[in-house]
Amino acid sequence: MVEAVSIVPTPALLKGETGDWELVIGLEVHAQVTSNSKLFSGAATDFGSEPNSQVSLVDAAFPGMLPVINEFCVEQAVRTGLGIEAEINLRSVFDRKNYFYPDLPAGYQISQYKQPIVGEGMVHVDLPDGSVRSVGIERLHLEQDAGKSLHDQHPKNTYVDLNRSGIALMEIVSKPDMRSGEEAGAYVRKLRTILRYLGTCDGNMEQGSLRCDVNVSVRKPGDKLGTRCEIKNVNSVRYLQQAVDYESRRQIEELEAGRPIKQETRLYDANTGTTRSMRSKEEAHDYRYFPDPDLQPLQLTADYVARIKATLPELPDAKRARLESELRIAPYQARVLVAEKESADYFEAFVAAVAKRTGKPLQDIGQDCANVVVTELFGILNKEGKPIEASPISADALASLQALKMDGTISGPTAKKVFEEMFATGKDAAAIVEEKGLKQVSDTGALEALVDKVIAENPKQVEQFRGGKETVITFFIGQIMKLSRGTANPGLLNELLKKKLQG
Ligand code: ADP
Ligand code: MG
Repeated sequence: MVEAVSIVPTPALLKGETGDWELVIGLEVHAQVTSNSKLFSGAATDFGSEPNSQVSLVDAAFPGMLPVINEFCVEQAVRTGLGIEAEINLRSVFDRKNYFYPDLPAGYQISQYKQPIVGEGMVHVDLPDGSVRSVGIERLHLEQDAGKSLHDQHPKNTYVDLNRSGIALMEIVSKPDMRSGEEAGAYVRKLRTILRYLGTCDGNMEQGSLRCDVNVSVRKPGDKLGTRCEIKNVNSVRYLQQAVDYESRRQIEELEAGRPIKQETRLYDANTGTTRSMRSKEEAHDYRYFPDPDLQPLQLTADYVARIKATLPELPDAKRARLESELRIAPYQARVLVAEKESADYFEAFVAAVAKRTGKPLQDIGQDCANVVVTELFGILNKEGKPIEASPISADALASLQALKMDGTISGPTAKKVFEEMFATGKDAAAIVEEKGLKQVSDTGALEALVDKVIAENPKQVEQFRGGKETVITFFIGQIMKLSRGTANPGLLNELLKKKLQG
């Protein structure tokens, strides 16, 4: 397990006219539960379907319809709670949160208020400088999503699409533990990674499966928490950081001009990079919360929770620790490899295939395999803007190349060339090596002939070598590598050259 370094990190202070300010951030993340049907109805949840094609009578709030809890969504929430090291509340309650909005046909949202399904937890956040910070989780509760107003379908009218109405969301509320936009961004990335490992949310921010409300306040170091503003529905990590930067500056300017901050809900405008006031902050009592009389309190058993716990996959922190300890992979590469579940899966399939082909133990091949994947494969995938799933080289195909390099059939530099060819053509390593005659020349006779030829053609350099300038050997190596098109076995070549040059 990762060690929790500090819960309240060292503040990175912001400079104002009156001195230093500390930034305080807490996030409410809305994560759409991965589930084929909605939280209280059997309607489908596919993204991008024809408007109003996935709406049951419950989602449209027809009179007399009764919600029925979707057990799979409950399981997903419990799984998520366990994944963020949180306390699972065996008893939780669904409440009605009342408000009027055209895309909310019932006039209330079913949510959890005083008794959420998941209590306090912890997420270990990886910062760009390699350090780890722990951010507290306040709670996680289940709630329904609302529908969507469509303002762009008609010049005068607004239409309503209820496909999203009733879809299960997990609202994951952090403590006000973050101290910079960078930390808040890293927190969202890590949370997203964990959710994707768990399979409880696809984390797709463009499609709105993961969106966050960002609470920002500033204070003089050592003071109590300042008044916060909440920036609604930020749907990318970049916007989140820009919103925090703008909002913290704005608050410092206001306070320094003697104007207190009003607690309010603000909107981020990506076009201008600014935030603007949307409404004054509503209080919980404005929503007239009360337990939904149509739903029983949700009662779980410790056994049920234990059964879910037993099915949890290895999560990124544990995987990273194992890659470092058992495969002896350096922290940087281990961290890059676990950042996406698909990358980690690819890497593990690759390293297992290499071990099988070469019969070598994992700890001896881990680091070199990590280098190949992180540097070569991710390098070229990033350049081409492709995700790992779109890699033209499968884990097994890459393992066959790695095995050819490890058993000396081809040299390291040749392996790089073969890799590029595999990536471009999808051909397999052995075929490329065969076709292009790239097998490493380890035949002493053949190499000797090349060495003799280069020595005979370069008397001046031979003289320099014999006069004590031993570095000139790299010149000979270069010449012979060129003649052999990189196929000369470097160890053997070195040995032969030294012998001949000295002789
Ligand atoms: P609400 O729904 O009223 O916004 P929640 O309890 O759901 O209330 O969320 C409050 C969020 O605001 C939490 O993420 C919390 O960490 C954060 N927060 C609370 N106080 C501050 C503060 N002074 N500065 C920044 N964030 C804060
Ligand atoms: Mg809020």
